[in-house]
Amino acid sequence: MIHVLSVASECAPLVKTGGLADVAGALPAALAPHEVTMRTLLPGYPAVMQALKTPEIIWENPDLFGGPARVLAGQGGGLDLLVLDAPHLFDRKGSLYLGPDGKDWPDNPERYGALCWVAAQIARDGAAGWQPDLLHLHDWQAGLTPVYLRQHGLPHVPTLLTIHNIAFQGLAEAEDLVRLRLPATGFTREGFEYWGKISALKAGLIYADKISTVSPTYAGELLTPEFGMGLDGVLRVRQADLVGILNGVDTEAWTPPYKTARGKTRHKEALREEFGLPESDGPLCVVVSRLTQQKGLDLLLEALPRLLAGGGQLALLGSGDKALEQAFTKAAKSEANVAVKIGYDEALSRRLIAGGDAILVPSRFEPCGLTQLYGLRFGTLPLVAYTGGLADTVIPASPAGLRAGAATGIQFHPVSTEALGRALDQLCALYREGATWRRMQKNAMAHPVGWEHSAADYADLYRAVLTR
Ligand code: ADP
Repeated sequence: MIHVLSVASECAPLVKTGGLADVAGALPAALAPHEVTMRTLLPGYPAVMQALKTPEIIWENPDLFGGPARVLAGQGGGLDLLVLDAPHLFDRKGSLYLGPDGKDWPDNPERYGALCWVAAQIARDGAAGWQPDLLHLHDWQAGLTPVYLRQHGLPHVPTLLTIHNIAFQGLAEAEDLVRLRLPATGFTREGFEYWGKISALKAGLIYADKISTVSPTYAGELLTPEFGMGLDGVLRVRQADLVGILNGVDTEAWTPPYKTARGKTRHKEALREEFGLPESDGPLCVVVSRLTQQKGLDLLLEALPRLLAGGGQLALLGSGDKALEQAFTKAAKSEANVAVKIGYDEALSRRLIAGGDAILVPSRFEPCGLTQLYGLRFGTLPLVAYTGGLADTVIPASPAGLRAGAATGIQFHPVSTEALGRALDQLCALYREGATWRRMQKNAMAHPVGWEHSAADYADLYRAVLTR
């Protein structure tokens, strides 16, 4: 049995802003059949504190980065939790990472530095008799842990750092070194210094034993300046220790609410009604997404006339950039076949993915992506950019893919309005053709999107880290 401490800043179903939470929440159960027990160390945000059942104090300190703190062991959200209860750091309303002004909390380095510090404490002293063999660290928020392990005299405790989003790098000012209890000797180009600042993510990339990211293609892309976001050089140095393991989805929670094509059609009709879209014999395309530059939805706005000319419709659920929210809202006002809801609504996202014929994911970069996996599972064919996890999970309706009868979706490259437009043309043509579309739906629904493969890969990786 391998005992793993997962160190995460968010974890479904308790607190979530993105895919990291889904992975941290899914791994413990997915790994159980592989002789791995996992406990999850989380910050004591209000939602986590409320969910925590039968808490037991296992560690206390009167001054953890500016205030009293303790670690509570207990259960919550179906998970075995260790919660860092430090009200001065985590007892805040609203978003996990942002203050009321929409900017990062100024003390984010201390907040997550404290989480890492405590992770190292648990590695040293255990948690009420439980001792982790290995630490699985998620993103920059857990990046300083290997530095603190060395501070605690534990350079031998193995660590795996998973990159979910390299765009967030956990930068802090150089003068925060002492406050963050970091060794000045590490503040070099070979250490965690990054252009005169401290980078928590770089610390993790330098000092973790192994690094993973959430798809094989993205692992390769991260080595290039285009995708590495300034850390590609560091990653090239660590290339031998970098692997990509795809995210899975919870296939129970994401079981299609229909068994037949007729059943799916009823969901489509209901969705058209809910979104006020007219009857149509063209494909109903859906989008469920954050509205940001990453997701390439500005390209979809530009290519929209191609979809409409092909007889297609669009129903979009998303929130984010105000300019994009406004542009889509405007398109919905002027086009009868476009409907938009601005907001974040999980139940509605399911109705969209159930009722749509296709789901559009034109991302500029996509470490793994989840919505195309939901689309596969529901027979809602993904139309995706050829990048990152989208490249690894969709078998394109290319001449070869169609000939082999293996296609599960449509891919386009490069990520441009023109290429997206051509893909939308292809989507409309395939939809009208009927038989090929149905074959692709069948393939898509049979494509494995659960955690089985990836959990086995993580368990193998843990074993590899432990036997180094
Ligand atoms: P990212 O983490 O970059 O946002 P992913 O595709 O990995 O992208 O994960 C996004 C998750 O958030 C998916 O589970 C998706 O269904 C969900 N999601 C995104 N936007 C919305 C929304 N407006 N309403 C409901 N769920 C959403």
